[in-house]
Amino acid sequence: MSRDRFGAAQPSDGRDALFSEEHEALRSSVRAFVEKELVPHAQEWDKAEAFPREVFERVGELGFFGMKFPEEVGGSGPDLIADAVVTEELARCGSGGVAAALGAHKDLACLYVSNFGSAEQHKRWLTPAIEGKSIGAFAVTEPDAGSDIAGLKTRAVRDGDDWVIDGSKTFITNGAWADFVVVAAKTDPDAGHEGLTLFVVERGTPGFEQKRIRMLGWRPSQTGELTLSSVRVPDSHRLGEVGSGFYAIMQNFAWERVSMALGQSSGAQHIYEIAKQYALERTAFGRPIGKFQVWRHRFADIATRIEAGRAMTYDALRKIASGEDALREVAMAKLYTSEVAFKVADECVQIHGGYGYVTEFPAERALRDARLGPIGGGTSEIMKEIIGKTLGL
Ligand SMILES: Cc1cc2nc3c(=O)[nH]c(=O)nc-3n(C[C@H](O)[C@H](O)[C@H](O)COP(=O)(O)OP(=O)(O)OC[C@H]3O[C@@H](n4cnc5c(N)ncnc54)[C@H](O)[C@@H]3O)c2cc1C
Repeated sequence: MSRDRFGAAQPSDGRDALFSEEHEALRSSVRAFVEKELVPHAQEWDKAEAFPREVFERVGELGFFGMKFPEEVGGSGPDLIADAVVTEELARCGSGGVAAALGAHKDLACLYVSNFGSAEQHKRWLTPAIEGKSIGAFAVTEPDAGSDIAGLKTRAVRDGDDWVIDGSKTFITNGAWADFVVVAAKTDPDAGHEGLTLFVVERGTPGFEQKRIRMLGWRPSQTGELTLSSVRVPDSHRLGEVGSGFYAIMQNFAWERVSMALGQSSGAQHIYEIAKQYALERTAFGRPIGKFQVWRHRFADIATRIEAGRAMTYDALRKIASGEDALREVAMAKLYTSEVAFKVADECVQIHGGYGYVTEFPAERALRDARLGPIGGGTSEIMKEIIGKTLGL
């Protein structure tokens, strides 16, 4: 007899049909790594607002960056479902910042180079990144434009065999310490959606500055502000065709957002478990606080929302993995799970009473980290715009 996610005994092996036995074996090994090598440091890294680069090397060495990439570039896939398992388990590390840094590397920087790069570019940036020997970032957002990608101002101008890039980017996960950054720049400001192109800019390129931003949550994640002043890159650093950047970004949004939804669902489940354990251990008025009906109902409420969010996310994941369009499903899953993750973290703070407000307990960190969900990767308002348009409104 095995147990389901909420601890109830059940006759089956408890796995969702989406995942094979091999996926569940992978889940066990990622979980063991996360519990042994990440969770014990979550608080210390949050306080330091930093974590060691060696974590990337370790994740690379274990092969966890390579699930969705083919063997010829150093991966073990392509297996999107295996990659989803890794994302779910990394989200249980107790630090939104560490999970985000590893995720931005794997699901943004690496994915862009994989999908739009040449064999030469794969060799230069993707393979070392899968091995965890370099750190990647993806930079679209600018100080004056985030949701409105058409409003980007960073310019790339052709000069012989090179491109000269000028502009600035902000809120870039891994931006402050990335070895390579996929940068979106306007190559033709008058061409609308056809005017955007992607380039890879390497750390140390003259004119390229990477600075740290301090934040409410995701504190160890080295989120950065990038300045590009006459940054010269050869044409071999262009990813994809000139003018293809906007379409590349739209295409990759599906994976970025479903990955966020996977992380949010799994992170919410993890916080729920912490809250429940506390509710059963802490007593007041002669009984565990979780046994008061008000708390039993509140736990019932958040468990229901976690299940609903996960079901929506798995539906979107199934569609993406089978090559179907999942624009609405992904937007719904990202929107809903970000609200659930914040709600669960807030309830976790409340059940902890005064301890919920202090930094020695994981609840306050979870709340700060979960606040990013409705902002990053496209805000909740933008998700509703997408959903509304797919409804014909
Ligand atoms: C911690 C963190 C990490 C991030 N990592 C990255 C990264 O790695 N790479 C990257 O490129 N970006 C990254 N971002 C940027 C993130 O994607 C943007 O912050 C987000 O898309 C919103 O853009 P903005 O901040 O410019 O807000 P704005 O677009 O200026 O929006 C401000 C407010 O207006 C609302 N709004 C905008 N347009 C509409 C509309 N049409 N209808 C209704 N409301 C609207 C928004 O929902 C929001 O509430 C990160 C952000 C954070 C905070």
